[in-house]
Amino acid sequence: MRLRPGTFMIEPKIRPDHPRPPIIHIGGCTATERSTDECTTRQAELSLTQQAVGAQPCAACRPDKALGIDVA
Ligand SMILES: [Zn+2]
Repeated sequence: MRLRPGTFMIEPKIRPDHPRPPIIHIGGCTATERSTDECTTRQAELSLTQQAVGAQPCAACRPDKALGIDVA
């Protein structure tokens, strides 16, 4: 896995009503299951901190740690 620190990716929900949340990755992460969109640091941070979005950090690349966010 070749991460590109400073860039992030968002793996959107399959469908708006799908129970699985969006997943945030660090750019270059290969632990994605669906197609991803590149996003900015700010978008990654907001996705992980806004409950309305409810995104989860990827367990492999840990974008929450890269951003200094403590997501339990
Ligand atoms: Zn990842």
